[in-house]
Amino acid sequence: MSTETTGFNWEYAPAPEAIDHAKIKKQYELFINGEFVKPLSKKYFETINPATEQVLSKVAEANEKDVHAAMIAAKNAYDKYWKKLSGADRAKYIYRIARVIQERSRELAVIESLNGGKAIRESRDFDIPTAANHFFYYAGWADKLAYAFPNKKIESVGVAAQIIPWNFPLLMAAWKIAPALATGNTVVLKPAESTPLTALKLAELIQDCDLPPGVVNIITGFGAAGAAMVNHPLANKIAFTGSTDVGKIIQKAVAGTGKKITLELGGKAANIVFEDAPINQAVEGIVNGIFFNQGHVCCAGSRLFIQESVSEEVIQKLKARMQTLIVGNPLDKNTDIGAINSKEQLEKINSYLKIGVNEGLEIYQPDNCNLPKQGFYCKPTLFIGAAQSNRVVQEEIFGPVLTIQTFRTIEEVIEKANNIPYGLSAGVWTDKGSKIFNLTTKLRAGVVWANTYNKFDPTSPFGGYKESGFGREGGLHGLAPYVNLS
Ligand code: NAP
Ligand code: MG
Repeated sequence: MSTETTGFNWEYAPAPEAIDHAKIKKQYELFINGEFVKPLSKKYFETINPATEQVLSKVAEANEKDVHAAMIAAKNAYDKYWKKLSGADRAKYIYRIARVIQERSRELAVIESLNGGKAIRESRDFDIPTAANHFFYYAGWADKLAYAFPNKKIESVGVAAQIIPWNFPLLMAAWKIAPALATGNTVVLKPAESTPLTALKLAELIQDCDLPPGVVNIITGFGAAGAAMVNHPLANKIAFTGSTDVGKIIQKAVAGTGKKITLELGGKAANIVFEDAPINQAVEGIVNGIFFNQGHVCCAGSRLFIQESVSEEVIQKLKARMQTLIVGNPLDKNTDIGAINSKEQLEKINSYLKIGVNEGLEIYQPDNCNLPKQGFYCKPTLFIGAAQSNRVVQEEIFGPVLTIQTFRTIEEVIEKANNIPYGLSAGVWTDKGSKIFNLTTKLRAGVVWANTYNKFDPTSPFGGYKESGFGREGGLHGLAPYVNLS
């Protein structure tokens, strides 16, 4: 409720989460063959807190030789131990990882927010518990693969090279590692350059779990290290989550090699509000869909479509709700919108704000929103009166920026929602189940949420159509990319 609608102006006292219990080392090495080893490159890079721009730690920069060492470790671990273990024994290790994530969840949440800029509420209530749930869920499959693929001979693939982005660092590591281990593969994982710290903490936890050395290797570095992983002859399976541009490079590199590949790429989801929708609930869902996690969400509901008869009401309520959003210190428990992940990303978002204004769109940002002086921040933003041809509608911004279009008929909104290179997710708000089922069959999106948004569960598959990639992660479907069936 805004001050306009309630007459109250709630001021929250600061409620910062304690950070002294979170142990971040001054310097991190590469986690290869069960040990932290100095990089052969002899190089390190700094990783910062995007909310303060202060350096948190120095992290090893893997080069091609380091990647090679990690791949050899993963291959040896596969041949010597992991492929010989029974499913039930693999499960014990995976359960152990799930439990230590739960035990150390407070520390992991703080490190995730410090290194990535996301509001502690998100990392504490969503990222870390969902990461633990993924390990629990896939641990459960490890000895039941014969039920997942009945009447098939099931073989693990070998070494999985896994490359992840900066928006859900620990959760993406869990999405990648858990199904790979459950199906009997070993792993080399590279987190994004800007958010390596929770993956490195996970490496420490995996060491505590006494996993056989080399089953999980975690190496840090830049795009070149990712490319070396993709091109390495010992990599049998490539799992990539990131931008569509890099996804295309990887697909070209893998073509003709026989390596298995899944790509989870960009998105530009339509969130569609019909006139019979529960409007207040829809407004909450719109806010959650795009401002959650600073809009750093591939499935963010970044294109809002409102049926014309209710557009004024929805926009007015949305503006009022935006006035109450708290942008600021990610470690404060009241914060709704934390820091943008990097200077580079903030510059990209700001350039799109200019593009939208130059395209002649009406811009709205809450006037009571003061951004901290230091760090990378962006106000929640609406572009009202957008058209299909606008660049801010067609291109992925990956920030707290929502374009608004109106529509009259179902046919029109389906046409507009699908007329985009991406197809990762969509949202539908209506009172009518029949309308929901009609739309779910016609929207070209991997996930369609109805009367809710951004709901995740390890049992549900997730993945895209078109330039959003291919293959599914999560659920029973998430096992398939990690096995050979005959
Ligand atoms: P990105 O630049 O594509 O990077 C993703 C990862 O790939 C990083 O670890 C990156 O390393 C690495 N990389 C860069 N160049 C590479 C190359 N040539 N070969 C192999 N690996 C390479 O993406 P981002 O900017 O980190 O993340 C944002 C993007 O991810 C958005 O487009 C978003 O939609 C997408 N995303 C998709 C999903 C999904 O499930 N579909 C989920 C989350 C994010 P560096 O960090 O060193 O650059
Ligand atoms: Mg990058």
